[in-house]
Amino acid sequence: MRESAVSAQSAMQGALAGRRVIVTGGARGLGADFVTTLAAAGARVVFGDVLHEAGEALAQSLAAQGHDVAFAALDLAQPDSIAAFVEHAAQRMGGIDALINNAAITNSGGKFAHEISVPTWDAVMDVNVRGTWLMCTAAQRFLADSGRGAIVNIASDTALWGAPKLLAYVASKGAVIAMTHSLAREFGAQGITVNAIAPGLTEVEATAYVPAERHAFYLDGRALQRAQVPEDVTGPVLFLLTDAARFVTGQLLPVNGGFVMN
Ligand code: NAD
Repeated sequence: MRESAVSAQSAMQGALAGRRVIVTGGARGLGADFVTTLAAAGARVVFGDVLHEAGEALAQSLAAQGHDVAFAALDLAQPDSIAAFVEHAAQRMGGIDALINNAAITNSGGKFAHEISVPTWDAVMDVNVRGTWLMCTAAQRFLADSGRGAIVNIASDTALWGAPKLLAYVASKGAVIAMTHSLAREFGAQGITVNAIAPGLTEVEATAYVPAERHAFYLDGRALQRAQVPEDVTGPVLFLLTDAARFVTGQLLPVNGGFVMN
């Protein structure tokens, strides 16, 4: 395991023990790193994804190590699936303390604005924006009952620096950031914190298609000049679920080695 992963894990040890967390899009990539690190920190996790085989495999391997982790089918494009997933997770864990809205689709990558089709635009918005909204509202009453409810929305720094040739995705992440602000005010009355993390370009299977020039552009523009890996994002995300962050809400934290500063 990388040194950064070990330190994120040990920093969270105890702080998240027994915490009941749901994660969307946990079957691979950043989501799988959140799930794995949460499990290692003693949290109880139910994660959902459209990738059933990969999700089941991850859950089984973590359960075999003694962790309280389960996978459940989830399709954010389907409102009924969202409601069923949240109910199932709450029933399994006896409530929900935290929600990480991580799942998203990109689809518009490599295309100019005029090349994106309306069905592509709608698909991106349905999953990334409507899906995030519906996850938040489905989980709201459980998070309120928790007394220390926390939501972390995974945005993207592409919405902050104006990444070209990615318009539907960038617009959806801008919406996620805006929803984070408004939901923080609405949910604050119930003691639920709502924050967003904006990762920079991170080395995962899903970004293997990103052209080398864009990887180089990020590398050159970072204050910390190395490739970004999932473990870089996990620590800040998990911090926002801990009791150390109970007075932090409505905030956006870019996690990108200093590529974009706000
Ligand atoms: P990824 O594609 O590996 O992860 C996304 C996960 O969401 C996948 O497991 C996918 O199957 C799942 N998913 C997709 N559609 C779904 C649906 N309809 N219902 C349920 N699950 C669905 O990509 P990733 O890079 O790990 O991305 C994770 C998050 O981080 C996303 O929100 C992404 O926008 C954000 N992000 C990633 C980067 C990066 O460079 N990797 C940078 C900025 C932000």
